[in-house]
Amino acid sequence: MSPVGAKAAKAVPASGKRPRAAPSARPGAISLLEAVPFACAAYARDDGALVAANQRFGHEFAALPEHAQRDQLLARLRDGALDDAEPSEVRAPHSGRWYALHWGEAEHEGRALALLTAIDISERIEALDSHKSQQEKLLFTSRMMSVGEMAATLAHELNQPLAAIVNYLNGSLRLIDQAGGPAQVERALQAARTQAEHAAAVISRVREFVRAREPRRDAQDVHAMAATVLELLRLEAERQQLRIDIALSASLPPVYADRVMVEQVLLNLVKNAIEAMRGIPVAQRELRVEGRVNLDGEVEIRVCDRGTGLSSAEQDQLFSPFFTTKNDGLGIGLAICRSIIEYHKGRLFFEPREGGGSVFGFTLPHYEAGGV
Ligand code: ADP
Repeated sequence: MSPVGAKAAKAVPASGKRPRAAPSARPGAISLLEAVPFACAAYARDDGALVAANQRFGHEFAALPEHAQRDQLLARLRDGALDDAEPSEVRAPHSGRWYALHWGEAEHEGRALALLTAIDISERIEALDSHKSQQEKLLFTSRMMSVGEMAATLAHELNQPLAAIVNYLNGSLRLIDQAGGPAQVERALQAARTQAEHAAAVISRVREFVRAREPRRDAQDVHAMAATVLELLRLEAERQQLRIDIALSASLPPVYADRVMVEQVLLNLVKNAIEAMRGIPVAQRELRVEGRVNLDGEVEIRVCDRGTGLSSAEQDQLFSPFFTTKNDGLGIGLAICRSIIEYHKGRLFFEPREGGGSVFGFTLPHYEAGGV
């Protein structure tokens, strides 16, 4: 390594001020540390004192008075955490930026050194955060969809019995009136009718609310929808070292669909596929998204994984609400996907993938067919 010496430590001011000159190796000496494109510093192994640092390190850490002593710097970066394990990703309290810390070993002039490289990963952390909030939004949309769906079902189911109750009550009131029946019973029946009418009004408001949120279908480009979804899951896929293969036929016609809803379906299927491949060797983790026009003239999208697949008992329950094999699963994803696709007059299906894994797919009418 470069000729760094004890003198070099003095080049990094121990004050909180930013250094003007490069706080690096001995003057005149060519410093390898300067050639490193990240903040880099060498600390003595024995007493932990800073021996040399490059200019970047000065810019990024000299504002911390603790930078001149390895353990103090680490304690400060850990920001009061009691955990004494070596931190690898830390947030610098003075700048709020995130750094990945890497330690290496070196020897110089008989002295054992610990070489610290601090790589600024703030952008990656920010990207992860915004990705997370986007996912949370989609999850929220999906929850709202299931709430909407439940509300619509309830409203539909309750509407008829309520109407029947009001009719029976009206009939009973007429009979009592004709027979000159007891006034107390008449009052009780009138009160019951008022309550039933109130309940019917509530139900009809719920129906209006759900109707107002009805999906909007239009001509949608499958390539664009797939790109949005894969971009949302890109970081997750990278983290799992997945290979993603997109095989959408170039001549896919636009589909007649509500974009947000179909993206929601695709997101769910791709997420499930990624999760299914968690436990398998990295070399086999391959995800393929296929799109073509099938023999019936529908657009067919297929999400193929190399995951664990499904037993025949699991296949039977797959689309039932609340079926899940995950500890933190809700088991409503596929059920919602199915209602969305059926609403679009398509079909959601599963088939085992040749060579291992699963294929989850769905069909959609193409725009001309659906729009007619
Ligand atoms: P959740 O993901 O909350 O469990 P889903 O309805 O999306 O809910 O999925 C239900 C179940 O279907 C999962 O728990 C899993 O057992 C199974 N499943 C879904 N997709 C796959 C897949 N690609 N490979 C294997 N199993 C899957």
